[in-house]
Amino acid sequence: MKAHDGMYIDGAWRPAAGTGTIEVTNPADETLLATVPAGGPEDVEAAVRAARAALPGWAATPPAERAARLEALQQILAGRRTEIAETITAELGSPLAFSQKVHAAVPVAVCAGYAQLAADYAFEERIGNSRVLREPVGVVGAITPWNYPLHQIVAKAAPALAAGCTMVLKPAEDTPLVAQLFAEAVHEAGVPAGVFNLVTGLGPVAGQALAEHHGIDLLSFTGSTAVGRRIGALAAAGVKRVALELGGKSANVILPGADLKKAVKVGVANVMSNSGQTCSAWTRMLVDAERYDEAVQLAAEAAAKYVTGHPLEETTRVGPVVNAKQHERVTGYIRRGVEEGARLVAGGAELPGGHERGHYVRPTVFADVTPEMAIAQEEIFGPVLAILKYEDTEDALRIANGTVYGLAGAVWSENEDEAVAFARRMETGQVDINGGRFNPLAPFGGYKQSGVGRELGVHGLEEYLQTKSLQF
Ligand code: NAD
Repeated sequence: MKAHDGMYIDGAWRPAAGTGTIEVTNPADETLLATVPAGGPEDVEAAVRAARAALPGWAATPPAERAARLEALQQILAGRRTEIAETITAELGSPLAFSQKVHAAVPVAVCAGYAQLAADYAFEERIGNSRVLREPVGVVGAITPWNYPLHQIVAKAAPALAAGCTMVLKPAEDTPLVAQLFAEAVHEAGVPAGVFNLVTGLGPVAGQALAEHHGIDLLSFTGSTAVGRRIGALAAAGVKRVALELGGKSANVILPGADLKKAVKVGVANVMSNSGQTCSAWTRMLVDAERYDEAVQLAAEAAAKYVTGHPLEETTRVGPVVNAKQHERVTGYIRRGVEEGARLVAGGAELPGGHERGHYVRPTVFADVTPEMAIAQEEIFGPVLAILKYEDTEDALRIANGTVYGLAGAVWSENEDEAVAFARRMETGQVDINGGRFNPLAPFGGYKQSGVGRELGVHGLEEYLQTKSLQF
């Protein structure tokens, strides 16, 4: 697979300062796909310098021109969608159909949304005797994870560029190839040199250098809560803005009277897609005592239909997880669930049959899960569903809100008003009512320890702006 052996800095691919490399492997068969340079503080320094130098020019570029660059970027991403899907399938392991439908397509929609917003947004408004200007926050440091590798880049880069910010991206070490492809697309779209810069490298080295850099005005991070907490502390010490998109343990609340078959089927699909590596996945299913056994049976049957296999095989619905560390983590949680006394009704910690190599995990469902168990509290980030029983609606709410997280969730009811009333009481940033579809323009982000700030749509754009008031 094609890879650049340099960093994209100041509009060109330049050799890295050091000689270290990162091996990019295919999680489906553990073969080596490519190597990319492992950048360090000197590369981060060069990239931040380029971004700072480009800032005055880009910030002063008329929004209509910024919109035109984003529109060009959207078209390039759409034109290269097959290559994008194949690259993400190779480095992440998601089934090709999912890579096409989600990993390659969603960033195009997000980019289109920001092209439109850059053109339409009111960057100035009048309040009494003041003119309020919304100006770019400055140079953005973006650190992204591997689970939706292009979406998470575009969800930061598109609003940053629309707002007039310049940026340095440090993508996840597992999925740097699609990040390089994105840098090529930015270049092709005619975004001026220095506006977007890419430094590949290890989190504790290149990521840390970026998080600590004094030339960064806003640090936008998506990833684990553990790293997010450190980044938040670093940003606070430097009095920098920070945006954090962290983990989740979202509840899928099936209220009595809801369409159980549909709610369970959609709920299982939500957890199994992308091998469970979705921060907003509904990993806890909450069912009333009366219909609990039926729900467990339906979920076990649904999970059994999720064929685990090579991501390029058409029958595959669940590919491998991203790497050996993640495999160890997920199967460790499955063993822990059994030890804690939960009842395994589908899957398990053993490798699924038929794979000599690759980081495969069996689609797993636990019944008889109680709220204090680790598998009901901690983010597993694998194809593992926990089904919990509730006594009444108040009990369901207590369980739903009973974790440190608050990223997403779902409510199912035969009465939409009842579902909305329940959703209002959930401590979480997004709730899908009766299977409502993902909306790339709606704000996405966490309550509680799931994060700080919002991404996507106009709310996402405003994270990259700061206000100035002129009085007359
Ligand atoms: P991570 O938080 O370690 O990595 C995310 C990004 O942060 C990567 O680009 C990484 O290189 C960088 N990073 C790591 N350490 C850093 C440091 N000290 N300073 C600056 N940057 C640093 O996540 P991971 O190891 O890839 O995954 C571990 C767990 O994180 C997962 O199991 C999952 O629970 C969670 N996760 C959540 C999301 C999400 O979207 N919320 C995404 C990926 C992972």
